[in-house]
Amino acid sequence: IPYTFKDPSLLDTRSFIGGKWVDASNGDKFAVLDPSDNEQICHVADLGRDETRQAIEAARSAFTKYRKTTARDRRWLMRRWADLIKEAKDDLAAICTLELGKPYTESLVTVKYGTDFLDWFEGAIERQYGETIPAAKGENRIFTIRQPQGVVAAITPWNSPVAMVTRKVGAAIAAGNTVVCKPAPETPLCAIAVAKLFERAGGPPGVLNIVTSSTEKSKLVGEEMTQNPLVKHLSFTGSTAVGRYLHAECAKSFKKTSMELGGNAPFIVFEDANLEKAAEGLISSKFRSSGQTCVCANRIFVHRSVMDRFATVLATKLASTFRYGSVWDKNVNFGPLYSARAFDKIHAQLDDALAHGAKLHADQTDQSQTGQVGHNDLGPNFYAPRIITHATKDMRFMREETFGPLAFLVPFETDDEAIALANGTSAGLASYFFTENISRVWHVSEELESGMVGVRVGLISACEQPFGGIKDSGVGREGGKDALDEYTEIKSITVGI
Ligand code: ADP
Repeated sequence: IPYTFKDPSLLDTRSFIGGKWVDASNGDKFAVLDPSDNEQICHVADLGRDETRQAIEAARSAFTKYRKTTARDRRWLMRRWADLIKEAKDDLAAICTLELGKPYTESLVTVKYGTDFLDWFEGAIERQYGETIPAAKGENRIFTIRQPQGVVAAITPWNSPVAMVTRKVGAAIAAGNTVVCKPAPETPLCAIAVAKLFERAGGPPGVLNIVTSSTEKSKLVGEEMTQNPLVKHLSFTGSTAVGRYLHAECAKSFKKTSMELGGNAPFIVFEDANLEKAAEGLISSKFRSSGQTCVCANRIFVHRSVMDRFATVLATKLASTFRYGSVWDKNVNFGPLYSARAFDKIHAQLDDALAHGAKLHADQTDQSQTGQVGHNDLGPNFYAPRIITHATKDMRFMREETFGPLAFLVPFETDDEAIALANGTSAGLASYFFTENISRVWHVSEELESGMVGVRVGLISACEQPFGGIKDSGVGREGGKDALDEYTEIKSITVGI
């Protein structure tokens, strides 16, 4: 690769258990691929159930001491960790580009986003206040304290391999818990590097454990995490199907869960919207990370009276926003999909829409036959961004998350119809809309069934904000002060006088 690591020791292929760097006990390994060309980058330790149990036990044993650390001690640990990540940002971004295929410049942004969480949690650790409660009958005094839960298990996805780790693990550790984290099999290397920096920051052995596993063995890791009674909380980001299964398994032993699951975000453009701003918002929401985030716009509802104009403005802006090429080129800001599997799924959604009467926007008809048209030199998983008009609610994209750079535009006539279309899905993670009308701002924000709403913005993820969904998009919130609450239990203490 055209990058020289400043600190090659950050590139490791082992798991991290109880402060020791380990391979699988039977020596198993799995391959990590470079999405730019599907070539193998390296082989990583493939751990199973026994090693997961050891990691949970190591975390439990570390908890005995870690739970007694002061907020100030944890704060400085978080500070040192965040600083080391900032110092290593170029190398971390390179690892992200290598295993995720994200353009290098974009990887730097996502590493920064990942560090933001640690910065924010550091500031919040010392403000985990309880309450005093006036006793209804007067003879007692009642107050609350917040305490860590114990061992937290975290399962993270591939699409933001630094931030998905720091957002969960950072909050859990800041709140005084210890963690066993299983990163996605596609992107284990960022999680390993982040754990290495935790160790260097003085993180006590066993407080953060990383269990790497292949797709096949991840199921075994999940079984141990959901069945082991020492685990008190499972925090998962990934598909709704897997989340549903893990949530049900955890229910058997009343483990708390945080489930950040799939979205199917509506994006509404009302007739009074500023179309330039709406197009810019849509481009950031829809096409960022090649459309591979759970909050990406998926179903775009445009008032019929502005549909043609909006599609034209959008196409013009899209043509000047993205630059394609090697993901290592600092001018490139749009990369390949993360895997061949993703490519096929997205292309099937396009085929389905075209077969049911949708049309590629005029400027792009020449790209209709294959995902790579005009870009064959950009690798097997490159998929060009597209705008699709004349989409209808009977098409597959309305029911299934796309997770790729296809913008399906569906016309609507009235506000009520737009809201009904937007809410007509089992998902409820993010929603977006553009209007210049203040009463619409309030009314539509309150009517949309989602955990997060973007009004006149296309980017809504920030470290200080509660992030999470309703309906089939899961339970719990990450980020901001709600995240620390999520990883603590309230204890009420009643004192007689
Ligand atoms: P995606 O399709 O985006 O990979 P998944 O929900 O399959 O989404 O994966 C998200 C994370 O969940 C990954 O770390 C993956 O390895 C893990 N995972 C998938 N199935 C299981 C399972 N049965 N038990 C534990 N982890 C799982």
